[in-house]
Amino acid sequence: MADSSPILPGATIGILGSGQLGRMLAIAARTLGYRVHVYSPDADSPAGAVADREVVASYLDLDQVREFARGVDVVTFEFENVPSATSVAAAEVTRVRPDGHVLHVTQQRLREKTFLREGGFPVTPFRAIRSEEDLIQATAALGIPGVLKTASFGYDGKGQQMIRSGDALPEAYAMLRGAEGIYEAFVDFEKEVSVVAARTLDGSFKAFPVFENTHHHHILDVTFAPAAIPGALAREAEELARGILEALKVVGLLTVEMFVTRDGRIVVNELAPRTHNSGHLTIDACVTSQFEQQVRAICGLPLGSTELRSPAAMSNLLGDVWIDAGGVPEWGAALSDPGIRLHLYGKADPRRGRKMGHLTATGETVASAVERVRQARARLVPPPLKPF
Ligand code: AMP
Repeated sequence: MADSSPILPGATIGILGSGQLGRMLAIAARTLGYRVHVYSPDADSPAGAVADREVVASYLDLDQVREFARGVDVVTFEFENVPSATSVAAAEVTRVRPDGHVLHVTQQRLREKTFLREGGFPVTPFRAIRSEEDLIQATAALGIPGVLKTASFGYDGKGQQMIRSGDALPEAYAMLRGAEGIYEAFVDFEKEVSVVAARTLDGSFKAFPVFENTHHHHILDVTFAPAAIPGALAREAEELARGILEALKVVGLLTVEMFVTRDGRIVVNELAPRTHNSGHLTIDACVTSQFEQQVRAICGLPLGSTELRSPAAMSNLLGDVWIDAGGVPEWGAALSDPGIRLHLYGKADPRRGRKMGHLTATGETVASAVERVRQARARLVPPPLKPF
């Protein structure tokens, strides 16, 4: 539904998806005086626990989706793998921001990379993989090493593998189990950065400072800001994000994950049409958080300042921390540094690799902020008892 009038505090925001991104979005929306309804197949969800209403239903139950959409003033999402049919059904009834087209492009790697390449944005060379023969030809054309990924439903390195030799191709292709894949030339990157940016219906745009991201076992581990890259490269990253949000006519927030190559170029890796794990430090370190910015952007309010008040760092807390601590992490030890902020997502079941929360610290320098969050996280797990 097209309606350009602003959606003012007091109105109701509907969120498709109910994980931690939805939870922090709901908290920001409620702070601004909005009501929040969430919709997902999961009961007792992180977002549902802080929402005014939690609807538990399948994304493909389109009658329920329409019913949900009738009860809200705008629908957004915190999870891009919501089926296209879901956003189409919601859009019959109310505003959906960003719209279904943005979702369609960004939820499939081949479509996403094709959009980027055609728009003149820098991406690594890639090929669609629909047969083993395609993979043989792609590796011949683009070279080895490279990365084979499933085209859909991949996250945190799931559904992807590095190809290091031609001998590995049959086994690598088998991993796709008949699903469509993408083969990408390997990017010899020096670091990974991200730009979280927002755009409103009238075209105004604001990006957060560039975040620098380090991963552990393919999962984001520590983010810090500002990224340790030259100013000209940071401006280039921001301009790329601006171009991408404009080309997609995003109304809302979108994250651009990028590589910085060893020879100082930026290559776009992935888009996420939503807030991002790397943007969590904005809650404690920026004038406006990424979640408040998403609310402002989808509701047609002026965008808030993205100024970073001081260097900052964020470390993820995975279920591993609970398991390694033997059940309950040493919260008091982590918080003994009064500058540490703790964010937990209300998830009951800690599993290895599951994102349960995060810590944020600010500091005089990026290095001191990183050191503080790393040390605080280390204190969550008591050292093993020394043998006699
Ligand atoms: P993705 O799921 O596309 O975000 O990829 C997960 C991680 O795999 C990235 O954060 C990189 O560390 C690595 N990676 C993905 N694609 C490539 C590539 N083409 N070249 C080198 N490393 C990659």
